[in-house]
Amino acid sequence: MKINVLDTTLRDGEQTPGVSLTSNEKLRIAKKLDEIGVDIIEAGSAITSEGEKEAIRQITHQGLNAEISSFARSLKGDIDSCIDCDVDCVNLVVSTSDIHIKYKLNSSRDEVIENMVSNIEYAKDHGLIVELSAEDATRTDFEYLKKVFQTALDTGADRLCPCDTVGVLTPEKSYDFYNKLSFLDGPLSAHCHNDYGLAVANTLEAIRGGATIIHGTINGIGERAGNASLEEIVVALNNLYEGKYTTDIKINQLYNASKLVSRTTGVYLQPNKAIVGENVFAHESGIHADGVIKNASTYESITPELLGRHRKFVVGKHTGTKGLKNRLKELGIDVDKEQLREIFKQVKDFSDKGKCLTDVDLQAISDKVLEKDMKQKVNLEEVTVVSGNNVTPTASVKLKTGDSEILESSTGLGPVDAAYNAVKKCLNEFSDVELEEFHVDAITGGADALIDVITKVSLGDKVISSRGTDSDIIIASVESYLTGVNRLLEENDEDL
Ligand code: MN
Repeated sequence: MKINVLDTTLRDGEQTPGVSLTSNEKLRIAKKLDEIGVDIIEAGSAITSEGEKEAIRQITHQGLNAEISSFARSLKGDIDSCIDCDVDCVNLVVSTSDIHIKYKLNSSRDEVIENMVSNIEYAKDHGLIVELSAEDATRTDFEYLKKVFQTALDTGADRLCPCDTVGVLTPEKSYDFYNKLSFLDGPLSAHCHNDYGLAVANTLEAIRGGATIIHGTINGIGERAGNASLEEIVVALNNLYEGKYTTDIKINQLYNASKLVSRTTGVYLQPNKAIVGENVFAHESGIHADGVIKNASTYESITPELLGRHRKFVVGKHTGTKGLKNRLKELGIDVDKEQLREIFKQVKDFSDKGKCLTDVDLQAISDKVLEKDMKQKVNLEEVTVVSGNNVTPTASVKLKTGDSEILESSTGLGPVDAAYNAVKKCLNEFSDVELEEFHVDAITGGADALIDVITKVSLGDKVISSRGTDSDIIIASVESYLTGVNRLLEENDEDL
């Protein structure tokens, strides 16, 4: 059975505390959602602001395949804003629980229905598809909820969504709840929130109970603890239900979409986040890594290929010699048995000091063991940064490669950003190295703390992490960046 996917990253997801997207950012995400095969994109809430209206209008005018929807309260003004944006559909939200009716609306059950009827009629008269969402439906008197939904269908609503607004369903209750509503002659949507970490489980049970549309957000972002995570639902339906349910989502694009959303919203993921977290295909422990090298299905039920991702072996305290040898091979380092044993010993010593081992640390250790000394291809000669109050952070950087010197300057959002931009400009002259990630730690407490910066840089499909440590955050950042760049260039044997 085909399950339709409504993505609400741009509406419920944007209601994540601290998240506010520009219209260009919204457009970029909408295009990606369309590309991955989302059926319905809830692009925002048109009444919110002029900027929001403009953003939704831009999205509706892109000619995307997905149906474009806007949130609207049961108010004519809200629906008018949606009409102004040329959306296909309104997500018309009516509060149905007594708590909401009494405290939020100061209204009555009968009034809520009367008002809903006139607004469904209004929206239908203007050619809109209407998804009628009952807000706080899971804490609503069930007989009343049935009456609301029946009336909505009789008035012309196209789809019904009983929202688990405060996330109080359990999987068992979710199945029963949807099952008892499945007599209704209209498609049902599942809209679950993650207050108890059950949003995905509740959504899957809603489908078994009779829902045919799921609401989700990329990375599960949303109000409070968030919404049901779209990627988790889609992959679970694909892998765990014996082909009973399908979606049109291109699963191998989900990781890309996740990256785009976390970068754009600034809401970064825990590394162990299911499906899209950084550690999902990483193996450190010796026993696991050994098993996976022999046959990946020993410790993986999802293949990295399904998600368009790569398996990686992380070197650390729990690494065995086989995992280590594999990682060295990936880094292009050939070792014999004796050398492997020595590198292994030094890796353990390093990890015992409580430090996290980056690729560059591993390479430094191997270099030492293999007595190969690395000549840096790019050296930092000078870095100057100006920053402060009412000043645009500006950096100038001088790099030396061979006999030539490159001097560039740049501005940035902050001093580190400015310095990175300046380095990047220098590098642009001879390489396509990209900065992927940047992480700062203060090793010791206090204002005189040593700063540890770990960066990830990439060249083509090679990614490498490297570290810089200094009491000056700018120097630590630039050095960490350049160490990674040097290693990448070394590996690619790029002549400068
Ligand atoms: Mn919601």
